[in-house]
Amino acid sequence: MGNRHTDGGRVEILGVPVDMVSSDEAMGRFAAMMGAEGCCQIVTPNSEIIWSAAKDGELKGIISGADLIMPDGIGIVYASRIIGRPLGERVTGIDFLAKVLEWLAAGGGKAYFLGSKPGVAEKAAANMMEKYPGLHVAGARDGYFAEDEEEGIVAEINGSGADFLCVALGSPKQEKFISRNKGRLKVKVAIGVGGSFDVMAGVLKRAPEFYRKHGLEWLYRLKQQPYRIKRMAVLPLFLIRVLAKDGLRRRK
Ligand code: UDP
Repeated sequence: MGNRHTDGGRVEILGVPVDMVSSDEAMGRFAAMMGAEGCCQIVTPNSEIIWSAAKDGELKGIISGADLIMPDGIGIVYASRIIGRPLGERVTGIDFLAKVLEWLAAGGGKAYFLGSKPGVAEKAAANMMEKYPGLHVAGARDGYFAEDEEEGIVAEINGSGADFLCVALGSPKQEKFISRNKGRLKVKVAIGVGGSFDVMAGVLKRAPEFYRKHGLEWLYRLKQQPYRIKRMAVLPLFLIRVLAKDGLRRRK
């Protein structure tokens, strides 16, 4: 359904579009997608994803064609200030997901959880159904499968009757999975959720309030998963690049 839900507020960061939406605006757009025809895709790019998309044409194309491009994380907040279109609040992918699940619970919506290590999606589903009474997670499976299993997985998702699909395969795998299968998926909305099932299942802890308030969620995550240091080193590079490319151009 193209870009029907992306009227206004869209900016480019390193050539990659992002919708500068508040979480209320994002929820409004989500609700509209749930009532529309076809399968909509929501992407939640953070600085790492924008950095990759600036080099990966396929990923950039998928992001550009998404129905909602939600900014995720502190890197985007800084970038939005550099380009002179400051985001009013920091919207994170996982907070948005929590709101969506609450919305689905209120209306008796059905979700499907695909991704993460064996057992994690099931545990995340059980925890979310307990947290949001009325929510029905109609199916769950892990995210370690071969290419030739994909058709069967899509059939399973369609057979479950779910209208909302969460895909946790990491980026860019999850965005590519959704884009590739959008045409045959019967869900109304599909979203890539990164490591969210690990947090929902209790495998990874969400950063405490202090870290979140001060935009230091990345630091807490690094303490839990020190091997991410290499990937996180992208953040300062990302900001320098935004400053050089988008920030200076603005001042011309
Ligand atoms: N994952 C998966 N299949 C894969 C690769 C990753 O299901 O082939 C899962 C992984 O178990 C984790 C999630 O994808 O739960 C997110 O991975 P990562 O933390 O690397 O991604 P990010 O949250 O940074 O996008």
